Amino acid sequence: MKLESILLPGIEDKRPMVIAGPCSAETEEQVMNTARQLAADGVKIMRAGIWKPRTKPGGFEGVGSEGLAWLKKARQETGMYISTEVATQKHVYEALKYGVDILWIGARTTANPFAVQEIAEALEGVDIPVLVKNPVNPDLELWIGALERLSNVGLTRLGAIHRGFSSYDKKIYRNLPQWHIPIELKRRMPDLPILCDPSHIGGKRDLIQPLSQQAMDLNYDGLIIETHCDPENAWSDAAQQVTPSRLKEILDSLVIREEGQSTEDLSALRRQIDEVDNQLLELLAKRMRISREIGTFKKEHNMTVVQTDRYDEILNNRIPQAKSLDISPEFMRIILEAIHEESVRQQVVILNK
Ligand code: PEP
Ligand code: MN
Repeated sequence: MKLESILLPGIEDKRPMVIAGPCSAETEEQVMNTARQLAADGVKIMRAGIWKPRTKPGGFEGVGSEGLAWLKKARQETGMYISTEVATQKHVYEALKYGVDILWIGARTTANPFAVQEIAEALEGVDIPVLVKNPVNPDLELWIGALERLSNVGLTRLGAIHRGFSSYDKKIYRNLPQWHIPIELKRRMPDLPILCDPSHIGGKRDLIQPLSQQAMDLNYDGLIIETHCDPENAWSDAAQQVTPSRLKEILDSLVIREEGQSTEDLSALRRQIDEVDNQLLELLAKRMRISREIGTFKKEHNMTVVQTDRYDEILNNRIPQAKSLDISPEFMRIILEAIHEESVRQQVVILNK
């Protein structure tokens, strides 16, 4: 895949590249008000959804082409570049007609090769940066496949947006980050710029800053952050949008570390991590051995595998203990649940022998 820079004239090649703006364009006033504040704070690229893919019908599905005229006006007045999501050929033609500078493909669309192919064909011969969000499901090949479909029609200014992956069991995040997937994408396509979308990963305002910092620490190129002049009253994704002034605080707070600094110190620390991971594995293996012995006992005494009281006792003891050791209770619960699941699996094998 041949790649060229997604940077547009006037945008500095410096991390993070920032795209900000509302989840959805709602009214001309909301677009212009948000745009003016963003531009005053130095943001160079504005986002706004015009067509909103909703999980269920009846939600706000976007203002449609009318909103493109507001974005065009924001571009003319502030000098910011404008970007929006496209999901069909019609969206592509409309967006191009209004001079949209950057397009992105949403997570639900990336998951559908027919839709991506249709968009790709509408973009043949057009020189425009296109950012591809990860598919809703954690499938790296599907994500790469979408990038390849765009590359195959001659687009070279491609980038990826990591917005997390759907999961049935929502806990801390709206969409699980599964950082290893974008990290593997970067390993497979080192020249592809990657932006993080902490708004859709977190789903809550408070998570935007820590997720953005984590993305910077993982050497991401940019951030796309939902920003609204009145987030509480936003027509979509109200809980995760921030005001332009909060966006500025978040961006000012980020520590941008350079790659490759003091790698020697780092390798010593990494050796320690390797060592501790080995110990963790040994301990887990030991715990499973004991658990299998318990399985044999349960079989001999005709007991059920899962003894609910015992499992509650483990959770109730370990979670506060974890907290006192500065480990988040949510994290500890996930670990204990995973260990318990494997333990049960191993005991079931023994019971059925
Ligand atoms: C969005 O960016 O507003 C959006 C709908 O995102 P996603 O495709 O990641 O759900
Ligand atoms: Mn949104």
